[in-house]
Amino acid sequence: MKTNKEWHEKNKMPKNATFEQRVKWHLEHLKNCSCRPIPKGLLNEMEEKNVTTLHDLQ
Ligand SMILES: [Zn+2]
Repeated sequence: MKTNKEWHEKNKMPKNATFEQRVKWHLEHLKNCSCRPIPKGLLNEMEEKNVTTLHDLQ
């Protein structure tokens, strides 16, 4: 579990983020930092909507 502080400084999660914003944030986060996994609730929502990549959001 390593935190990429620099990435976090540049990529703040917006307040009241939409589903799309949260997915984008977490997918980018996965690539850049491993301090925490995607929350289960969001993963479930992604599964329901068949979203696994950024491409699926479009
Ligand atoms: Zn992180």
